[in-house]
Amino acid sequence: MPAQRAPQAAAKSAPQRALEKLGLLRDVDLALHLPIRYEDETRLVPIATLRDAMTAQVEGTVVESRVRPGTRRQLVVRITDGNDDLVLRFLNFYPSHQKTLAVGTRVRVRGDVRGGLFGREMVHPTFKAVDATTPLAAALTPVYPTSAQLPQAYLRKAVAAAITRADLGEILPPEIVPAGLPSLRDALLFLHHPPPDASLATLEDRSHPAWERLKFEELLAQQLSQLDAKRERARQRAPALPLARGGLQEQLLAALPFRLTEAQRRVADEIAADLQREQPMHRLLQGDVGSGKTVVAALAAAQAIAAGWQCALMAPTEILAEQHLRKLVDWLAPLGVGVAWLTGSRKGKQRRQMLEQVASGEAALVVGTHAVIQEQVGFQRLGLAVIDEQHRFGVQQRLALRAKLGAGGIEPHTLMMSATPIPRTLAMTLFADLDVSTIDELPPGRSPIVTKLFADNRRDAVVARIRDEVAQGRQVYWVCPLIEESESLDLENAIATHARLVDALPGHRVGLLHGRMPAVEKAAVMAQFTSGALAVLVATTVIEVGVDVPNASLMVIEHAERFGLAQLHQLRGRVGRGTVQSVCVLLYAAPLSDAGKARLKAMLETNDGFEIARRDLEIRGPGEFLGARQSGAPLLRFADLTLDEDWVRQARRAALALQERDPRAAARQVARWLGNRSDYLKA
Ligand code: ADP
Ligand code: MG
Repeated sequence: MPAQRAPQAAAKSAPQRALEKLGLLRDVDLALHLPIRYEDETRLVPIATLRDAMTAQVEGTVVESRVRPGTRRQLVVRITDGNDDLVLRFLNFYPSHQKTLAVGTRVRVRGDVRGGLFGREMVHPTFKAVDATTPLAAALTPVYPTSAQLPQAYLRKAVAAAITRADLGEILPPEIVPAGLPSLRDALLFLHHPPPDASLATLEDRSHPAWERLKFEELLAQQLSQLDAKRERARQRAPALPLARGGLQEQLLAALPFRLTEAQRRVADEIAADLQREQPMHRLLQGDVGSGKTVVAALAAAQAIAAGWQCALMAPTEILAEQHLRKLVDWLAPLGVGVAWLTGSRKGKQRRQMLEQVASGEAALVVGTHAVIQEQVGFQRLGLAVIDEQHRFGVQQRLALRAKLGAGGIEPHTLMMSATPIPRTLAMTLFADLDVSTIDELPPGRSPIVTKLFADNRRDAVVARIRDEVAQGRQVYWVCPLIEESESLDLENAIATHARLVDALPGHRVGLLHGRMPAVEKAAVMAQFTSGALAVLVATTVIEVGVDVPNASLMVIEHAERFGLAQLHQLRGRVGRGTVQSVCVLLYAAPLSDAGKARLKAMLETNDGFEIARRDLEIRGPGEFLGARQSGAPLLRFADLTLDEDWVRQARRAALALQERDPRAAARQVARWLGNRSDYLKA
């Protein structure tokens, strides 16, 4: 019997492919594709009222049409409306232009006015021949965001057709829709084709009720999908990890060289309680740099291990993973815990041995980079996964992690850790499926870091400072700029700085650390700095997260204006870990962009990670915090999390109510808005 063939798909036109590329697949996607602005073709203005830089539509009769000769031929047309005249100038033109714009024709033109040398003119206006009966547009003309392969006119037609076909029927019961908002259908009809008297200002700043309806709808879908994810998780089974009196966790606490802070104790209790349940924990542990998250993770690991399960701890970089490894081995190996180390650079026999230990359960704790979740790694009984700086893992890695974790039918508990606190609005929306624990206090005896700003031409003063610092036996970081376009430039700069500091600091050892070094070499340099053998460490941003050298008291960040705010704050957090007064010097080169200025100002004004996160959200929008959730297209198109906190709150209330009263309506709402994108929310 011949195999059945799928019917040959009809060849797609370029605009159709472009539509798909923009994610405009369903009618409802097109209906939700809103104009970025409007053109007003509903009225004509007298030519005499045209001003420079205005966009306007006028009508007139062609009184002159000539081609200006020369190497760059131009078509120059003059029209008059009886009172005043206007020049239309075309730098590229076809014979058809000349034909339509022949002397004596009445034309309607629309374009940007500029005050030209010979009076007012429009360059490349749109135009058409009209007569006294040609009607004006009844509504403002939408201009949609589009791509080069997708002509505006084609998109306009596609959207207009889609709106009539799309199912925009009311899904929501009236009592959950905030008062004063139009229906979704009315809102969309209005926004695609606003009447001539619509207030352009409220359309532009998105404060019009039609816009508000869309924001509410979008946030509601978002909240509902988060509730779904949370429910789905609650249905999954995780191993309950009981806490035994006198068990491994208590032994670890007793062996620590310090006492937990109040905040550490609180979050450790929250986590311990989660782990004892049969539902998988899905918790974010946030705490400023240096607040002591690692030990909290170690306590959770101890609980899992004591209950007979394995724990995996992953960090985004090898250096950071290695730091964790050293600490955890220090703390847990004496208590009889077997630890395995898995990174990409581990190869051959060693790697095979580690994999065996993981598979047999001999290694109760597995520390490493994302190598930990590669296919060949098979855990015997994974009970807890700890992910440090999880937002730095890519989308694919996070989806792989989820797949891996769920594979055995039993879901391990997950603890994510981050030093970049999620601002409140984001926590309420995109991370609403996550429980959050916050360490809001630093271990005692730390003095706040003093931040100073130095112009680039005052490097000598900075070097003098370094000399003072190392003379007192303290250590210094010098971080070189991130030049994203060129890793090699990055490197050159670090090498030059290293050489300069070697010259300037005779009698002290200056180390160099950069991304191109093999992992073993990086580890060796880092170990020398940790042991105090190196007085100064010049580094590209490889040291950025998590390294912990309490004797380091000065951090110099070169070209600080090129770093993101979260990154600057992370880097600054590398110092101030001991009891000596620490300083962070931000070297900057003029001219500063507005955003660059705002970032440096924030760094000078506050040491508080939450405040930094809030300002970061203000300066650059939510992208930074989303990490993997940012799957190319921003998930929120209509609501703006920095401005619409109020709507977030309303949507949250409505989501809970709808889920409760009408789960099927809730599901339809999610499908309408998120289509196939909701997977990413779970990553
Ligand atoms: P982060 O939250 O940035 O990951 P770490 O876990 O690396 O911070 O902790 C920073 C430093 O503070 C480490 O040297 C750690 O051992 C130390 N530390 C953690 N908790 C305490 C505490 N309660 N008292 C004193 N030192 C602590
Ligand atoms: Mg850390």
